[in-house]
Amino acid sequence: MTLLHRLPTIRSKLGSVIVFAVGMTILLVYLILGVGFQVFTIRERLWELVLAGVIGAAIALVIARWVARGMTQPLRDMAQAAHRMETGDYSQRVTTQSRDEVGQLAVAFNRMSSELESLERLRRELIANVSHELKTPISALRAHLENLLDGVERPDPETLQIMLAQSERLGRLVDQLLDLSQLESGDVPLERGRVELAPLVAEVLSEIEVARPDRGVRLADAVPEDIPPVFADRERVHQVLFNLLDNAVRFTPAGGRVTVSASRHDGSVDVAVADTGPGISAEDLSRVFERFYRVDRSRSRDDGGTGIGLAIARSVVEAHGGRIWVESEPGRGSTFTFELPAAAPPTETRRHE
Ligand code: ADP
Repeated sequence: MTLLHRLPTIRSKLGSVIVFAVGMTILLVYLILGVGFQVFTIRERLWELVLAGVIGAAIALVIARWVARGMTQPLRDMAQAAHRMETGDYSQRVTTQSRDEVGQLAVAFNRMSSELESLERLRRELIANVSHELKTPISALRAHLENLLDGVERPDPETLQIMLAQSERLGRLVDQLLDLSQLESGDVPLERGRVELAPLVAEVLSEIEVARPDRGVRLADAVPEDIPPVFADRERVHQVLFNLLDNAVRFTPAGGRVTVSASRHDGSVDVAVADTGPGISAEDLSRVFERFYRVDRSRSRDDGGTGIGLAIARSVVEAHGGRIWVESEPGRGSTFTFELPAAAPPTETRRHE
């Protein structure tokens, strides 16, 4: 059987079984009649010949059944595993040493089930995370409302302000989740055109100054005026820049600096947002673009963070065919960089005189 497993196709396996069976039959005929191959000319020994044929065929049949059983075992295992999957159990794997088509199918099946298993795990994590994130502001709002109703708290502007902030957080979270799910499913068409980076960066920097006043963080614009335009959706690039700058300003302590720079490459432009904040440890670096991943949960939440800003940034950049990455040294700051395709130079219209 192990020898058969080494054969790469079902055709070669069946071929070898048949060759083996025919060989056995000839050997039996030879042994039973004991007269060698001249028997084929001897009529009176016909019954013995028939008997040898029947025994040979029976042996071939038994061997063929045994071989077929071994060959189709992975198929039965796969059917069983598929039934289990219907009930949500994705842990099933099919074991086979066979290298033929069934063996290849089993390998593909195992790959598919581990893919499904990790998707299912991600789905569960997502539901758990979303519920948890929604629960926090809802519980806070409820507690304030109960206190107001019981007369423990007074509806003074301070309390109402806290409640307003919680409901704004809820709204922001739901908006961002919807945006992310649309981006990931490719439902939002990109309205791409030539986007000049220098004015866009200046615009986002002034918005950040308004949105996060009194942080004591210096904002520096180091984008060269002659940086080539990118081919992108302006609103979306604005969103990525805003998310990166908002994070940089939120995580950098007072007295620090945040710098936006840009550099041209062959056919693309890199935009970098560097800060002098606390940096990100190597183990967190690879995970910060995952949704809801936060190095310091409570701190990010207190600052109004939802934990999906970077996931959105990554989806937007990747939808443009670009990439985004982060480099950081704990204690010395972080630099988030994204790369977008440069816009083709405008076609010059020639005047004919
Ligand atoms: P959040 O809403 O929490 O900012 P993000 O997806 O934007 O969510 O960021 C995920 C996490 O990455 C943050 O919670 C923070 O721990 C880390 N992070 C992002 N930007 C920076 C930065 N500039 N410096 C240090 N940590 C950062």
